Amino acid sequence: MADLQTAERQAQQLLDRFSITKAPVPVEDLAKSLGVEVRYQSLEPNVSGVLVRRGNKVVIGVNSNHHSNRQRFTIAHELGHYLLHPDSPTVFVDGALVHFRGEDLTGPSDLRELEANAFAGALLLPEATLRLDLRGQYIDAFDEVAVRGLSNRYQVSQQALTIRLMRLGLAGGMR
Ligand SMILES: [Zn+2]
Repeated sequence: MADLQTAERQAQQLLDRFSITKAPVPVEDLAKSLGVEVRYQSLEPNVSGVLVRRGNKVVIGVNSNHHSNRQRFTIAHELGHYLLHPDSPTVFVDGALVHFRGEDLTGPSDLRELEANAFAGALLLPEATLRLDLRGQYIDAFDEVAVRGLSNRYQVSQQALTIRLMRLGLAGGMR
């Protein structure tokens, strides 16, 4: 079973370690602070990013053709693999669709992908910051103006934002 709570906790610990409390979360700087190099390269359209480990050297390759919000999610997702899955293969290649699988997906899925996504969501959309922004209000997932405003502020896709809000029980309207 995927351990999403542990993944989310690790993301929070990383934010705490570098005293990050404001949006947008500087995800590329975080990677660098961990000694992880981020390289932008033209990858196949259906590949968001790769994580390559060679000895002590860790490189995240990000698809330079993708939207910057998606690139940020990719960096966060690959950082999740780096921190959560030390015994995994030396190369992770992530297809675009992988990033938006919900945890309630039926059928076979790689649990590590769900964990990396949960990590990325918690890293880019810190719970405390989100709750402050929403001032205890519930957000309607169909309220395009509100969703767009928040996604701009956090520099994440509206889809990633909605998934995170649903996970925290802060969004309604999608049943
Ligand atoms: Zn992945």
